[in-house]
Amino acid sequence: METVEIVDVGLRDGLQGIGPLVPTEWKLAALDRLVAAGVRRLEVGSLVSARAVPQMADTPTILAAALRRPGVVAQVLVPNDRRGLEAVDVGARHLVFVLSATDAHNRANVARTTRESVDAYERLLAQLPDIVSVRVAIATSFHCPYAGPVEADTVLSLVDHLVALRSHVEICFCDTTGGAHPQQVGQLFARARASFPQVTAWAFHAHDTYGLGAANVVAAYGEGVRSFDSAFGGLGGCPFAPGASGNVATEDLVRLFQLMAVQTGIDLDTLIEMGADAAALPGGKAGGHLIRVAAGREARACA
Ligand code: ZN
Repeated sequence: METVEIVDVGLRDGLQGIGPLVPTEWKLAALDRLVAAGVRRLEVGSLVSARAVPQMADTPTILAAALRRPGVVAQVLVPNDRRGLEAVDVGARHLVFVLSATDAHNRANVARTTRESVDAYERLLAQLPDIVSVRVAIATSFHCPYAGPVEADTVLSLVDHLVALRSHVEICFCDTTGGAHPQQVGQLFARARASFPQVTAWAFHAHDTYGLGAANVVAAYGEGVRSFDSAFGGLGGCPFAPGASGNVATEDLVRLFQLMAVQTGIDLDTLIEMGADAAALPGGKAGGHLIRVAAGREARACA
């Protein structure tokens, strides 16, 4: 049976844009439930400026809790080399180095040009212990809130720079705004996989702004991608990508792959319950389709 890896990024991408601080205890309970549901890889937070993104200030605590769970891969998003090394200092063994395909989004997101981020990535690699793995997340790989649609050539030339620094990496194309469409997603992955066979793994990060999250995931799957980011409850939306709504919902992807007879190892019912809780978070804006269907069923049962 085919399998895919679903990386739940709800604790990072899902929560980072929420204004009221989500209590650390809530996050720890969500971590427990995700792991109990069978999620084996999670993005637990980011090491970024606590002033810019106060919601992520307790990332070291969430990371420490995740590290105590055997078999769980806990990744931490970092915007530069200094934060990357800080993450390693607090125990991170799986980093996600984020940079954008477009200068405009990169400046808004990490306050430097894309080229400067590549330089920071190079400095990070030079200082990183061998036991630490790196995923490179390329934000705005398809569409930029400032520059509009992004050409595949722009993204592939960035990948070229990145693999010149380290060939055996995992690369994630991120549809930060949800503005991508399935043909565009399929074509970018097809070209990337053909051009860079040395890349260890490809991943796709979908948002569901226009309802195309799942369709884009299927397009990436069709081109051989087997690792997908999603957030429980479809929470999310980048504070530096105006208009972007939530990540594609983990429960929607689990159901999608069930229908395709592809194994995710994740229990759907637990995820649907979590989605409902996420929707009830003060300041939270859950998306996703399945939790709406489930809520409708309950309403009918009560009538
Ligand atoms: Zn995102």
